[in-house]
Amino acid sequence: MAIAGALPMVGGNGPNGYMHNSRYQKHRYASTVHMVEEAIHQRLDIPSETATIRIADLGCSVGPNTFHSVQTVAEAMKTKLRSSPSLQGKPFQLQVFFNDQVGNDFNTLFQTLPPNWPYFVAAVPGSFYSQLFPQDSIHYFNSSFALHWLSKVPDGCCNKGRLHCHGGDRDIVSAYQAQFRADMAAFLAARAGELVAGGLLVLQFVCRHEWMPADAPRYDMWFAYIESILRELVAEGKVKEDDLDSFQLPIYSPTIEEFKEIVGNISSFSVPVAQIVDLHHGDDDGKTHEICESDRCERARDVGLAARAVFGDMVGNKFGRDTADELFRRFPEAAYEYFVTHPNTPSLPPTAFVVLKKED
Ligand code: SAH
Repeated sequence: MAIAGALPMVGGNGPNGYMHNSRYQKHRYASTVHMVEEAIHQRLDIPSETATIRIADLGCSVGPNTFHSVQTVAEAMKTKLRSSPSLQGKPFQLQVFFNDQVGNDFNTLFQTLPPNWPYFVAAVPGSFYSQLFPQDSIHYFNSSFALHWLSKVPDGCCNKGRLHCHGGDRDIVSAYQAQFRADMAAFLAARAGELVAGGLLVLQFVCRHEWMPADAPRYDMWFAYIESILRELVAEGKVKEDDLDSFQLPIYSPTIEEFKEIVGNISSFSVPVAQIVDLHHGDDDGKTHEICESDRCERARDVGLAARAVFGDMVGNKFGRDTADELFRRFPEAAYEYFVTHPNTPSLPPTAFVVLKKED
């Protein structure tokens, strides 16, 4: 029944791929760039004898977002090295490791690297819930919009008619919470070993506000639309009820406090920054806008494409291509309905922005 962790995003260069449908994630990363630069400038320690600075992006997918984040980090590091008296003028090289699950489309990733990329590159396939790098080898980890994916669906989950925990029974929520705690502890323990002292782990992930209980039935997460359409298809006899009952997404969106509690149990890290960034409706400027009818339609279509790029392969593998096509054909309408009936609710959940520093 369980999907072992997330299936990778839809690969390739085609119209349904993540590569062409990941602008929400891109905007959300962009809204944190000034904080990334500040973290590198103020928090990162680079030992003066360092000749090669190693950066890793965990859960990179196929690009182009990973290239934007790596570029941001590379430029901020160059600025830091130029302005730091102990490092000034020292030649150094950058090496970037792109990590994702083994099934990720690494070919597309490397074929679409920006021209004349100013760093050495390598792929590191495997789950970031295990150790991926030698001890004390990485100076800076980035992970954007990947950590809300659990390593697996919690064991023994019976979540009838539903495919995620949010808004579900307390028992189901508790099982997901326990899985999140175990996964995050494993993630942090692995990174604590791999980071050099003074190195940073900078994370963006989908989260909840403190005032949002995990069992609240919120509909601003894309998989909630998928769930409601699958129920429709079951009611129409087009999807088997058992198939829906056995399709569970290994996703959990924590609050910042939940996350900090887990970090608190691992002595290796300090937490200089842990804050929420809430981009209402995914706008570039982060302001809330009254959205007009044509905006609503366009946004509903966009969210449908973005959701397909993330969940398309997972839905297709479970229910078949035809059902996936039908589901994503209906998706914009479900999103549109939601925007109309919940005009003041953001259509995207908030982002957690966290900086962890490895202490000596
Ligand atoms: N960082 C990119 C991609 C985010 S999509 C961006 O900001 O746009 C999330 C990615 O995390 C997917 O490619 C998925 O395969 C990957 N992922 C999820 N669980 C993972 C795990 N346990 N180990 C490595 N990658 C994982």
